[in-house]
Amino acid sequence: MRKLAAGNWKMNGNAAALAELTALTEAHPAPACDMLICPPATLIAQAAWATKGTRLAIGGQDCHPKASGAHTGDISAAMLKDACASYVILGHSERRADHGETDELVLAKALAAVEAGLVPVVCLGETEAQRDAGQTLAVIGEQLAGSVPAGSTAATLVIAYEPVWAIGTGRTPTLDQIAEVHSFLRVSLMKQIGGEAAGVRLLYGGSVKPSNAAEIFAVGHVDGALVGGASLKAADFGAIVAAL
Ligand code: 13P
Repeated sequence: MRKLAAGNWKMNGNAAALAELTALTEAHPAPACDMLICPPATLIAQAAWATKGTRLAIGGQDCHPKASGAHTGDISAAMLKDACASYVILGHSERRADHGETDELVLAKALAAVEAGLVPVVCLGETEAQRDAGQTLAVIGEQLAGSVPAGSTAATLVIAYEPVWAIGTGRTPTLDQIAEVHSFLRVSLMKQIGGEAAGVRLLYGGSVKPSNAAEIFAVGHVDGALVGGASLKAADFGAIVAAL
């Protein structure tokens, strides 16, 4: 399995920031892992053109479940594909919180993404209150069962485990806690989609940075990272790529 270093720029970046992508691809022309950056929608086409022919894939951060229609302000999976995106992040906890996204909606979006030829990066993770209450695996199990399309394969699905309390806080779970969740994800996914689960990339996300990337990547069933803040600068993200 080729591991995946994915960056989520969230609502950051402008045309000038595309220089970071050029710097990244120049520094890592033949990385040992797959590389993905998901810039804001306004930059997807430009980012894809700027990195055409390189080993860096470009993705969206969300899509609408419908292919087209009267949905002002929304973007369909087919439109992302048309802008030369190849992945789309779905169900990020910020979207679940800011826009009330449910597992059911995330599932509909994931089906639309696969239909359009995009690979969905389905995000899940517990809040701090849920972890403190001992509900972590139950919450994650429910999100996984509710938001992953039946019939997913290693080529049509990436999962990102992002504990909500670790996002943008500088705090990370212990390596044992990450190992527990990732093993649980693999076993649960086996039950849902069968043997294909062995090849589905399970990313860890939440305060990944150059200084902790190597130890997190050494944890069993961690097949890459979904990186927020540290994906904005080519030097930081490049160091994470190099650690995979
Ligand atoms: P940070 O890496 O900034 O903690 O963000 C993680 C994240 O939410 C990626 O999707």
